[in-house]
Formats: sequence, C-alpha cells, structure tokens
Amino acid sequence: MENEGKYQQFYKTTAWKKLSKSFREVNPVCVKCYERGVIRKVEIVDHITPIRDDWSKRLDWHNLQSLCLNCHNIKTKVETESRNKE
Ligand SMILES: [Zn+2]
Repeated sequence: MENEGKYQQFYKTTAWKKLSKSFREVNPVCVKCYERGVIRKVEIVDHITPIRDDWSKRLDWHNLQSLCLNCHNIKTKVETESRNKE
C-alpha cells in the first residue's frame, strides 16, 4: 500500500509533469495505433518498463511512449494479469 502511494505521488511531481509535457510535444500520436496505421492523439505518456518494475527508469526519456487511453488500458491489463500469475 505504501508503494502505491509512492507511484501516485510520482505522477504529481514537477519533474514528471515537465518531462511528460515535452514528450507529448515531440510524440503527439499513440505509437500502438500508429503501428496499425491509425492516427490517434496521445492521451497517456506511458513507461515502457513500468516504474514499479524499475523505479530508476521513471524519468528516462527512452523508457517513455505515447499511448491513447485504449492502448494504455490494454497494456495495463496485460501487465496486471502477468503480475497476478507470478
Ligand atoms: Zn492507441
């Protein structure tokens, strides 16, 4: 529970807000949709390696990708399912 708070707090930090804002400007479309030839506006700046798996990559530009809400939900669902299996 303590850790959940840590992750939630991270998304409120100025460092993250600045980084994700710049990232959106450079990567304005969802990369997953783009791979399928669909242009959808970025809604979530996602960590490719989730920060709960590698906290050190939380501000790593190369660990970020632009996703729309739909693609983000799919990714989160897959991650949660694989985590619960362990
Ligand atoms: Zn998408």
